[in-house]
Amino acid sequence: MFIYKAAVVGAGTMGGSIAQVITYAGLPVVIKDIDQKQLDEAVKKIQKIYQKRVDKGKMSYNEMEMKLALVTTTLTYDGFDDVDIVIEAVPEDMNIKKKVFKELDEVLPEHAIIASNTSALSITEMATATKRPGKCIGMHFFNPAHVMKLVEVIPGLQTDEQTIEDVIEFAESLRKIPVRVKECAGFLVNRLLGVYLNEAVICLQEGAATPKEIDDAMVKFGWPMGPFTLADMLGLDICYKVGKILYEEYGPRMKPPLLLEKLVKAGRLGQKTGAGVYLYDDPDAEDTLLPKLLEEVRKETKIVENSEFSPERLNYLLINEAVLCLMENISSHSDIDIAMMAGTGFPQDKGGPLKYADTVGVDIILNKLIEFRDKYGFRFWPAPLLKRMVAAGYTGVKAGRGFYHYG
Ligand code: NAD
Repeated sequence: MFIYKAAVVGAGTMGGSIAQVITYAGLPVVIKDIDQKQLDEAVKKIQKIYQKRVDKGKMSYNEMEMKLALVTTTLTYDGFDDVDIVIEAVPEDMNIKKKVFKELDEVLPEHAIIASNTSALSITEMATATKRPGKCIGMHFFNPAHVMKLVEVIPGLQTDEQTIEDVIEFAESLRKIPVRVKECAGFLVNRLLGVYLNEAVICLQEGAATPKEIDDAMVKFGWPMGPFTLADMLGLDICYKVGKILYEEYGPRMKPPLLLEKLVKAGRLGQKTGAGVYLYDDPDAEDTLLPKLLEEVRKETKIVENSEFSPERLNYLLINEAVLCLMENISSHSDIDIAMMAGTGFPQDKGGPLKYADTVGVDIILNKLIEFRDKYGFRFWPAPLLKRMVAAGYTGVKAGRGFYHYG
């Protein structure tokens, strides 16, 4: 299906920049919100993104004006009767999402696709609010949407194959990298990132290293920023909320660390509140709260003696989760690698977690996971596929075959 006109519902953090991405590809977009202030802010945000391009000489003033003319806003559903696709970006609440899906179903033309930008909620459930479940789908952009290349495309149980194809093509026309992901809690990227961030906090709780030592080591490995800098940027409350959803779905191996809960309860939510794991308002001040919270955690939970931090501890756990995703057909091996590089900045030179596992040696990863499991617990239990691969000689680059084939 060719898309001539798009709409965005919800003009907040994500909606505004998604609308900018759509106009950048030359398509008209109508933005709907329930709050005029939010609509005005979204338009200002779009202008600001374009103005930066003009200032850098990447776009002429006239081009900017043409792109801005593609945006209209509404507090009703005015202008939705000839829309081909809607991206819903209202708050992460199933009741609100279902209400919006129902309203959209009533005002949109029959052929139109309803895509949700949800980070974690079920597309299948949202689709039940409509009479067009085959045309409902997840289209998960990453923040900031005008910068991040990845879009996870998540079909619900009833989504038509044609809708999936149309949305993948649409994402490509927006110059994004779409990756097809089977519906599951956290989808692909947040699920993998979840275990990785949890492990960083566990290392800190156990006194294995300081936040800075952990961040520096992960940056040295090639990540664009360390896990604590990232968590503070995302918001510790968001990390905790997603962490609880993952725990609910996947069980004890994803239990959010107690320190994360304590930081959130203490109002240390990250950059946005001036302090998270790090202090931002006054970086040179002495942090008296974090040591106190660490002491409490160590009293209240069983802490592993002689805990040691290593980048492997975080990276191999992430690789193990990637292998579990592969086993569950959440995504293909190459899409898992592409998604982690485009969505999280997994070191590009390492080619994604599964390619990296092949380079290190699947047997080496397996043995290390067993060692970690025996020392730190069952969250390191190796994915069964790893054992089967090693037994069959699929040990990676050195064997000419692993997750990929070589030579
Ligand atoms: P936000 O709170 O910044 O914006 C939500 C907007 O929706 C607000 O402008 C609000 O006025 C509007 N709204 C509320 N009810 C509405 C209704 N019934 N009809 C129309 N508009 C309504 O939220 P956000 O951070 O942009 O998140 C939106 C969605 O994107 C959520 O599902 C979230 O999980 C997902 N998401 C967020 C991020 C992120 O980093 N913020 C990243 C990826 C995905």
